Amino acid sequence: MDTKKPKIFRMKAALYTKFQGPVTIETVTDPKPVIGGVVLKVGATGLCRSDWHGWMGHDTDIQLPHIPGHELAGTVIELGSGITKFKIGDRVTVPFVSGCGRCEQCNSGNQQVCDHQFQPGFTHWGSFAEYVGIHYADTNLVHLPDEISFETAASLGCRFITSFRAVAHQAKTTGGNWLAVHGCGGVGLSAIMIAEALGAQVIAVDIDDSKLTFAKTIGAHYTINGGKENVVEAVKEISNGGVHVSVDALGSKTTCFNSIDNLRKRGKHIQVGLMAGNDYLPEIPMHLVVANELEIIGSHGMQAHAYPEMMNMIKSGKLQPEKLIGELISLEEATNLLPKMNEFQGVGVKVINRF
Ligand SMILES: [Zn+2]
Ligand SMILES: [Zn+2]
Repeated sequence: MDTKKPKIFRMKAALYTKFQGPVTIETVTDPKPVIGGVVLKVGATGLCRSDWHGWMGHDTDIQLPHIPGHELAGTVIELGSGITKFKIGDRVTVPFVSGCGRCEQCNSGNQQVCDHQFQPGFTHWGSFAEYVGIHYADTNLVHLPDEISFETAASLGCRFITSFRAVAHQAKTTGGNWLAVHGCGGVGLSAIMIAEALGAQVIAVDIDDSKLTFAKTIGAHYTINGGKENVVEAVKEISNGGVHVSVDALGSKTTCFNSIDNLRKRGKHIQVGLMAGNDYLPEIPMHLVVANELEIIGSHGMQAHAYPEMMNMIKSGKLQPEKLIGELISLEEATNLLPKMNEFQGVGVKVINRF
């Protein structure tokens, strides 16, 4: 890849100037590296429902005009001062929550809940562009092994790492566990693949039969169509009394409630799906939480230092995130798709690799 950048350059980017307004391709000033930051030439970037939330105006971090994009991989082409772990030409990816490396949370190793988060595509301009600036680079960039493509790496940056942390680290899923996943979008499908790789018996729940059919091809052992069946009764019947771990991968009042209600005693509910709009304050069956000693745990991204465990599972073929890529699209196509992200169309993750 050509990693030399022209001296004077104005980059192509997908941009919106008002919430819920048109997303258009524009030419804008390219990013400059900040102190401790780098500029990447974007190799690939995923399209995510969080970008839609941002475009809707649900995220108070976003300042207009805005370039979305937070699931990215690319090549380092410019270094700010103070970078010690990366050099020009390195292939890298980055978690969508980048920690500052200095606050109480970062010092405890929990950069995913940093008090001063850098989030490309939210707090700053993102990767729906030829170039993107990344802050706190030494703390957050992750070297990409040669065998992992930019497209696969881009599909990790948000939904896959979030599901990895949710299933492997927060739920501590082990072989023999029963695990239910509510919602088979990008987060849910990732959670199914990861849980199966860890040896769990996986039950996938959705209201779309095509998503359930796909879920079976990537690791689900059982499927339930929530539009046709009583979800909680069906999960309890399949798992002989309830699951050990249940993930709300969608983020709705219904999926959240069901995910807690279908647990067996001392089970763990992991909330991954974002609760926004009308689902902001869900009902929780708290009597079950007390009587059955249930645990309710949130999960939000994953730290860069936790990537190697996941990368090793990808390199060994235990995890195959590339199977979750539904479609490779152009930046131009993304401008049309972004406003429609809430329509739940299609199976798998869309990744932009043409700019
Ligand atoms: Zn921090
Ligand atoms: Zn995302």
